Amino acid sequence: MARVLFINSGSEGHVNPTIGVVEELVSRGEDVVYFTIEDFRERIEKTGATVRTIDVQAFIKAFISGGRNNVLERINGLLRTIDIMIPSVLEQIEGERFDYIIHDSMFGCGRILAQILNLPAVNSCSSFAQSKSSFDSMFNQLSENIPSETFDEYKRLTTMVEEKYGVEIQTPYEVFCNPAPLTIVYTTRDFQPVEEEFDQTFKFVGPSITSRKKYQHFDLTKFKGEKLIYISLGTVFNQAIDFYKLCFEAFGNTEYTVVMSMGEKVQQSDLGKIPENFFIKDYIPQIEVLKHMKLFITHGGMNSVHEGLFYGVPLIVIPQSADQPVIAAQVAKRGAGIQLQMQGLTAHQLLESADYVLSQPTFLQVAAKMKESFQQAGGYQQAVNEIIDFKRQYNM
Ligand code: UDP
Repeated sequence: MARVLFINSGSEGHVNPTIGVVEELVSRGEDVVYFTIEDFRERIEKTGATVRTIDVQAFIKAFISGGRNNVLERINGLLRTIDIMIPSVLEQIEGERFDYIIHDSMFGCGRILAQILNLPAVNSCSSFAQSKSSFDSMFNQLSENIPSETFDEYKRLTTMVEEKYGVEIQTPYEVFCNPAPLTIVYTTRDFQPVEEEFDQTFKFVGPSITSRKKYQHFDLTKFKGEKLIYISLGTVFNQAIDFYKLCFEAFGNTEYTVVMSMGEKVQQSDLGKIPENFFIKDYIPQIEVLKHMKLFITHGGMNSVHEGLFYGVPLIVIPQSADQPVIAAQVAKRGAGIQLQMQGLTAHQLLESADYVLSQPTFLQVAAKMKESFQQAGGYQQAVNEIIDFKRQYNM
């Protein structure tokens, strides 16, 4: 049995794919200590891991204080979270021994912690992987428009990290992507853009999906038939009252039955009259619901796209931000759905697009093929097989 330090963020999209991994690690005898935010305590404790928490408000405040205008401001935000994460984690694990660390690919300062603790590290990547060369070329292109003060701030922060924590940061890529000797990517090589850029230290294990039945009771018996649509913009970019109303206009009083997640930032009372063929909640047990749906209208979060395709559901992707435009383009390129732009979207276009995707068998056929390849990839079980192999290299 090894002791594992798991460092993650406080967002569903980064936590959900790790749940199966932790459950599987625990079932194979590993002792896992998992850092996340209080909101996820119950979910992670059910895996058998020990949960410790970080101060989410301080973390978000530090991250946002870096700025959001360009990639280097975001990197500076991540660097500012170091002073929140690292002292808190070090204090909470004082005197304990760990054999290896698994950290998120973006949040939680995983690479730095691995270096401070001198632990073999596994990178948990819940979106598409990014290679150093593609990051560097994107960064070089964008850097022409980044003000020199932002570079000065980056220099100040990296010097601070070196002086305070003894860790030298060589490139912005290290902060943004947290590279490690093993990276678990929760998608298939086939779905990953420019997959040839990734060597054997990247293991594409496929979507890591576990049932969330035990987390929430939800009556699915009322959703039957061929005209079932699920709509969700995920958990971050979901404060979209106008979009939800547009969905009412598009699908209200049609033959479709619509299940819609509106997120926790919007009140049902903000939405006006809800059509009778809509079933709306602030949080839907998405995995369970998707198994019954014929079409998924999504913002293109990596988890949502994976979950839809894992059950062979064609997609309409309306990307909002972050990595979503890349994911939307990849879905369209594969032919498992189409993408729409939020800006200028009309109710007519939305309804027409849904009719179109459902009437063309090719979308369903491609989604069915992807379902097969996703389900064969192994997901969290394969992830743990790779982690066990990795441990052998370190004689653990
Ligand atoms: N989710 C859910 N119910 C909801 C909304 C979201 O279960 O009502 C889950 C969804 O299954 C997915 C995650 O939240 O696992 C959202 O992650 P994603 O990467 O799709 O988007 P993000 O929220 O990070 O933008």
